[in-house]
Order: sequence, then structure tokens, then C-alpha cells
Amino acid sequence: MMVEAGQSAAAEYDLVVIGAGIAGLNALYSATDYLVRGARVLLVDQKDAAGGMWNTVYDYVRLHQPHPMFTVGNLPWDWDKPRDYLATGAEVQRHLASALGPAGERVALETRFGHTVSTCREVETGDGPRAEVTLHPNGRPGEAQTLQARRAIHAAGVNYRPADPLPLESARVVSVIPQALRAALAAHPGVPVYVVGGGKTGMDTVLAALTQDPGRRITLLNGRGTIFMNRTKYLPVGLKRWTSGEPVSRVLRDMALSFDGENDDAVLERFRARYSSDPESRNELYLYGLQSEDEMAQVRDGLAAEIRDYLAGVEDGPHGPQMVLRSGKTLPVPAGSIFVNCTGSYFRAEDMAEERTVLSPRDCVLSVTTRDGFHPLTSVSGFFLTHLLYRGLLRGRGFYTIDLERMFRKDRKAIVGVAAAQATMNQLLALQTLPLELLTRCGLDLDLWYPLPRRLVGLVRMKAAARADIDHCRRALDRVAVRTGVHCAPLM
Ligand SMILES: Cc1cc2nc3c(=O)[nH]c(=O)nc-3n(C[C@H](O)[C@H](O)[C@H](O)COP(=O)(O)OP(=O)(O)OC[C@H]3O[C@@H](n4cnc5c(N)ncnc54)[C@H](O)[C@@H]3O)c2cc1C
Repeated sequence: MMVEAGQSAAAEYDLVVIGAGIAGLNALYSATDYLVRGARVLLVDQKDAAGGMWNTVYDYVRLHQPHPMFTVGNLPWDWDKPRDYLATGAEVQRHLASALGPAGERVALETRFGHTVSTCREVETGDGPRAEVTLHPNGRPGEAQTLQARRAIHAAGVNYRPADPLPLESARVVSVIPQALRAALAAHPGVPVYVVGGGKTGMDTVLAALTQDPGRRITLLNGRGTIFMNRTKYLPVGLKRWTSGEPVSRVLRDMALSFDGENDDAVLERFRARYSSDPESRNELYLYGLQSEDEMAQVRDGLAAEIRDYLAGVEDGPHGPQMVLRSGKTLPVPAGSIFVNCTGSYFRAEDMAEERTVLSPRDCVLSVTTRDGFHPLTSVSGFFLTHLLYRGLLRGRGFYTIDLERMFRKDRKAIVGVAAAQATMNQLLALQTLPLELLTRCGLDLDLWYPLPRRLVGLVRMKAAARADIDHCRRALDRVAVRTGVHCAPLM
């Protein structure tokens, strides 16, 4: 049963979920396994619809992973496109939003879109501990309402925010964000395009500009540069699914076991040489993006130039506009050039996301965030944290939570080994803690790409080495915690 934007009279819910991105939807979907039929559940989001960032991301975005494993629980996609089809942003949004249907069949689900939650905390009441949630219609804090619930799941997740155009001093160039790329290309034919940032958004932007206008001169400002996992090799298609590649959990395990808590450079080199789409590149960041060999070649062949430096600004010089680079160099740019801000969606804002512990003292409020993260993917966190919480199996089992945002800001290289160690260890602990039947219902598992026999072999190998692997990851993560001073510890 689903109630549209209900303003309910009574204010006690069984569960309030804040955030209708893939993290919150996985949390909601998982929670319905434990709530009684007809339980009162409220889903709140600032946006006008479910789907989180996929509502506001640039229109030429595509998943960089196979779509079947970008889902809510084990919800299948309602189509029969090839498994390797890379869904568009709009398709992803529609699929995620479709999860509200099945969730609403299990519980009495109310949705409150266009609302901002200002506080979500645990309080003591005469009836025991409760979650207290204060929310208001966007932009109207004077109309705040406070609700109580047996539990709340605060699933802000990565909370993607579209960037602003780069503030460029010169008025003779055009500064846009990816959301405005297509319009800018149409409005300014023939002028060069400068893509600022070489991550997933930058790669998408180069390809989108080349597709819309193959003759365009495109320059990539690539700073330290980003490396990507090789999708052609590790998510192979056709018969190769049987004969080549490796389940992603094995790749993560290899990375985790090569990490000793201090050897960030060696781990990055290992990833580059073995798993990246471009082993020759000298790029230094890895943010769990995927790229096919074809995409990599298209970008390389389509670029007129690549600058290994950061853009500090564009100013009007004596001979026209000129780029000022962080190294101090200046380079002339043709008047009218388009600069696209692809400098990164995550962990780049001046302020960090709100600090929230994963679990409140009496277990009423669960937070799925990157500040006390359970897994590098917030989708996976939403699924596992919720099942573990409702089963009372979250504390004292050795699961590590990490302030992934602070870690990234402190040491962008460390995050590679840290994320692999955390993902590997928490997955092994979940395997030991939760029934296998439940684990098979996690449709987010990228290993599902491979045929069942290969997965079963992987599972046996995983279980056989679990103890030693967990010990290794724990030692590495403990060392990281001491070395960096960033929160990285078992959940007690
Ligand atoms: C360009 C791009 C491509 C990507 N492609 C992939 C991919 O192929 N595969 C993959 O696994 N990952 C991909 N990612 C990572 C992606 O961000 C995550 O996979 C995922 O969609 C993030 O979901 P989320 O729920 O954590 O965050 P979001 O989608 O940002 O959702 C958080 C939601 O919480 C709401 N919210 C937050 N705070 C409040 C509040 N106080 N009150 C009310 N509502 C609130 C927000 O409005 C938002 O809707 C990509 C990221 C980017 C930027």
C-alpha cells in the first residue's frame, strides 16, 4: 500500500528513511523484510522523485557498470536489453524509482518528496528510545514538523550535488557544468572545448562532445589523472564470461592482500598494471570507476591535447584570454572557448558532509554515509547495514567503519587500498554472519556477472581463505588508522 505525499495526523512511524537514492532505497527495501505488513514507513527526500543523484546528474551520463547489478535489493530491470547495456541516467532513475512499487506492497509507505530533514537523532521517551526526525518543505523551515519513529535510517549516501561553473575571470570564454554541455555546444559552434578534470565525468564529457560534434577540438586538463578498472577485461561479454576475467571480489581481494596499510604507491601500481584500462598511463587517482578499452581508445584518439596540470583560472591577457595553470604556466586560448567543470563530484566541496556515526547508542538511528562508511559503495552499505541492524548482528562482529571522506581528503592514494581492504573484510564477515540465502538476494554483487559455476568456485575459495584474509585486512586497516588518524575501527 502506498500513500502519496501524505500529511499524516499521527506522528509515530515504524521507520523513517531519509534519502531516496540507491542507498536509501536499498535500506528501505531491506527493512521491509523485517517490518510487519502494513507497518508505517515514511520516505523523505529533498528531490521531487526517487532515484537520488540520477534525477540531477548530466543527461549524457551512463552507468559505467552492467545495469542488472545496479539495483535495489534483487529487483530485476523491467526489460530484456543485453546485460552489458550501459543504462542512461534517465533509465537508471526510472528503475530505482520503480522500487517504491514493491516496497509499498509490503508496508504502508508514505513518501514526502521536496522535503528537507534538518535533524535526525535518537531521543529517550517514556516508551523507550525513539528516532526523532524534523523536516520541512524545501526552503520553508518555518513549516517544520517533528516526527517520531521506532527507527530512522539516514541514508544521505554520497549525496551528489551538481557542481557550479568554474569562476573564470575572463568574460571572453564560456564556463559551464556538464548539465549545460549540449546547449553550450549548440550555441557556440566550432569553438574549442576544454574539459577540466579527467575522472568519470570528464571521460563522459569528452565522449559526449565528440559524439555531438566530431570535428570539435577538445583539450583535457587532467591534473594527477584518474585510472579506471578495465571493464572489457573484468566484465567480459559472451563466452569470455566463462573463460576470462575474474570476479570483482577476487580483484578486490588481490588489492586488499597486497595492501599492508602503508604501501599506497605499490597498491596503485599493482592496480594500474593488472586491472586498469590503460596500464601505460601515469594517472594517480582511482575512484572505483570502470572504463572499456574502446572508450579509453576513443578518448585518447579524440583529444586534440592533454594537459597534465590543474586549471587555476582564465584571465584576459594582452593577446586575448589565457589559461593560468597551477604550475604557474600560462597558455593562450581562443576567445569563445567552452570550459566544462568536471573537477569531481565527491569530497571536493569546502565543507565535509555532516559527521554521523553509523549507529546511535540505542540502535534507533542508522546512518548510511561516507563519514562512517561500511562499504565504499553506499548501495551495498544500505543493503547490508539494514539487514544486520534488524537482525541485531551489526555490533561486536568486527565490521569496520571508516570515515571515507576524511580519508580521501587526507590521502587520495591511501583510499585505494583502504577501500579494497574494507570491502573485502566486511564482505567476508557478512558471509560468516548472515544466511547464504539472504546474501544471494543482494543483486548489487558484481560477481553476479559471471556464470554460476564460476561464482560457486569463487565462493568456496573465499570461504576457505576467509580467516586469514580477515586477519590481514584488519592489520592493514589498524595500521592505516594509526598512520592517518582518520576514524577506521571495528563497530562495537
Ligand atoms: C557521474 C556519475 C556516475 C556514476 N555511475 C555509477 C555507476 O555506474 N555505478 C555505481 O555503482 N556508482 C556510480 N556512481 C556513484 C553513485 O553516486 C552511486 O552509485 C549512487 O547512485 C549514489 O547513491 P546515494 O544514495 O549514495 O546518493 P544520492 O544518489 O546522492 O542520494 C542521496 C539522496 O539523499 C537525499 N538527501 C540527502 N540529505 C537529505 C536531507 N537532509 N533531507 C532530505 N533528503 C536528503 C538527496 O536529496 C538524495 O536524493 C556514479 C556517480 C557519478 C557522479
